[in-house]
Amino acid sequence: MHAIVLKKCLCLNNLSNIFILTPSESWFKTISKNIKLAKNAGFCYGVKRAVETTIKLKKENPNKKISVLGELIHNSHVISELESSGIKTINSLPDKGEGICIIRSHGESNVVFKQVQDKGYELVDLTCFDVKKVQNRAIELARNGFLVIILGKFEHPEVMAIRANAQEYATNSQNVYVAQTIDKLKLIEDRIKSSSKVGVVLQTTQTKEYLYEIIDYLIDKCKILNVSNTICPSTTLRQEEAKKLAQESDLMVVVGSKKSANTTHLAQLLQDITQTIHIEDENELDNYKEIIVKSQNIGITAGASTPDNIIQEVINKLERTV
Ligand code: SF4
Repeated sequence: MHAIVLKKCLCLNNLSNIFILTPSESWFKTISKNIKLAKNAGFCYGVKRAVETTIKLKKENPNKKISVLGELIHNSHVISELESSGIKTINSLPDKGEGICIIRSHGESNVVFKQVQDKGYELVDLTCFDVKKVQNRAIELARNGFLVIILGKFEHPEVMAIRANAQEYATNSQNVYVAQTIDKLKLIEDRIKSSSKVGVVLQTTQTKEYLYEIIDYLIDKCKILNVSNTICPSTTLRQEEAKKLAQESDLMVVVGSKKSANTTHLAQLLQDITQTIHIEDENELDNYKEIIVKSQNIGITAGASTPDNIIQEVINKLERTV
């Protein structure tokens, strides 16, 4: 993560995590004559670590109750498999906890961490390291008196935890603000203009296009603007590869849960480049048979919470359809 202090000047090249792929690099795998799969489609390292560690914990503790606070990842197939192997998803904490309680890759607020331990659970923290970095950066900005702006989805668990932790250290909780759209930011324009310093962080799965739009809006309104590009490298790489693939495809298929922020952002980005469909699994391909048959070049990508077997099933069905 790289922080930059901007004062009436802007150098976008200084932002970290911006990958530029040259034509000589291979950003896809050729499946068949007209079907290509983005190289980094599917599980990111944070999700992989969360799923593998959870399964390992169950194997090592077969007689212990294992609960995950909130869905481990946004994928109903994986959640059902975990449930059938005895790993329970809980959406709120009971009065008294028993066994292990896992904090998923999205992270949780400090308050929730304490509650989990106070209820008597053994806590296992699987917060992704990149999410921790955003939390720490937001706390640092709040501690240093910045008006903290978090670019992300208000009700997303990752954003809720970043916000709650920053608020804990802010002199005034109103100094931590979540903006999902530029219109939300415009609602606090007077506060932005009157603040001595403004700090920006992003939900890890946002797009750099949104970041640039926001910088463009803020740059003339802030006395001091400190922007940290906290989009995680895995998200950026996935988006850049998918955009390249979309440029040479007349249909892009994005595979992953409609609840997944990174998958939804991928689909939104690609829609501006070529015809794009967002499906959760191969069954949904039936709704797009006509478009698929007409397409000459099909590109496939998948969100960070989409397992390999779901991607493979989509590939198999596409091969049978074209
Ligand atoms: S998308 Fe990025 S931040 Fe989120 S779990 Fe994956 S690697 Fe971590």
